[in-house]
Amino acid sequence: MSELYPAERLTRAQQEAGRQGVDALLLTPGADLRYLTGYDALPLERLTCLVLPAQGDPLLLVPRLEEPAARSSPAGELGVEIRPYDETDDAFALVAGLIAGAGVVGVADRMWAEQVLAFRTALPDSRQVLAGGVLRGLRLIKSPAEVAALRRAGEAIDSVHERMGQWLRAGRTEAEVARDVAEAVVEGHEQVNFTIVAAGPNAASPHHHTGDRVIAPGDPVVVDIGGTTADGYCSDITRVYAVGEPPVDFVRYYDVLQRAQVAAYEAVRPGVAAAVVDAAARDIIAEAGYGDYFVHRTGHGIGLEEHEEPWIVAGNDEPLRAGMVFSIEPGIYLPGRHGARIEDIVACTEAGGELLNLVSRDLVVVGG
Ligand code: ZN
Ligand code: ZN
Ligand code: ZN
Repeated sequence: MSELYPAERLTRAQQEAGRQGVDALLLTPGADLRYLTGYDALPLERLTCLVLPAQGDPLLLVPRLEEPAARSSPAGELGVEIRPYDETDDAFALVAGLIAGAGVVGVADRMWAEQVLAFRTALPDSRQVLAGGVLRGLRLIKSPAEVAALRRAGEAIDSVHERMGQWLRAGRTEAEVARDVAEAVVEGHEQVNFTIVAAGPNAASPHHHTGDRVIAPGDPVVVDIGGTTADGYCSDITRVYAVGEPPVDFVRYYDVLQRAQVAAYEAVRPGVAAAVVDAAARDIIAEAGYGDYFVHRTGHGIGLEEHEEPWIVAGNDEPLRAGMVFSIEPGIYLPGRHGARIEDIVACTEAGGELLNLVSRDLVVVGG
């Protein structure tokens, strides 16, 4: 059995569903299905659905042509019945027959609308709620095996930043650099999720769409990259480079940003509210006069999804707990000028924060 995807998760999810008065969970391809079974199912127009009643046996309903893939995934070792259906079967009616009488049904948060509505028709007497309400408590706290998987993802993405000097230089476009970066990301990951290369004024847009800007001498360049490893776990890291001599005002606020990022990381420990970690970074940036230029939350949880709970944001009073893993990524963005963001993934442990990205956070000057 896979250490990353143990069978006891199904039991825990059933118990929690029962506790919340949810009679069954219906989980289509996505992070929740993978979390509970290890099955990285293809999202298709044909229904694939884990039917998990609060009481009774789980069943994984799959299109017949997907049966071999499902059986050879970690789901095949869980002792869960995998039941194929044929092209002419009504898969929604089959599911409805399995949970006849269910009053409250939890549907996967990211289930396609056409499937949600088909289930509504097939189960007219059931009330639909989000399965996330049942599963968030489980997914929020990573097991040691999950933290180890995230640590491996961190190592894989760190090694890409270590090689940035090979690709990043004046005269190349953002897109050319991003293509080289993406090639390096897949060496340690199964897939590239994003490669943001934002040079000069483009760095002032946190989610800049990498384009054909030619990188110029003196440009600060924000490089934010992430992928998914074969285990299913994600990486996400941002580092900042200067191509040749950076602008003086940029260097000044980069130093502020670096101190803010360290302060947030050092605030991490069990019992501290997520909002306190956000404030630790934000206060330093605001005191230096850049408060209006830090336009997003300090961080997001990460795991099987790039962005998941917990949100490291003002107003989130949820106390951190050991096993939570999230980004710390304050930024300062001066519209029309330049910008910077420093991002690491941090695991909350009993002893405080553990950085899962170790590559230097200093401003790296590369060839102009
Ligand atoms: Zn982002
Ligand atoms: Zn991030
Ligand atoms: Zn990022």
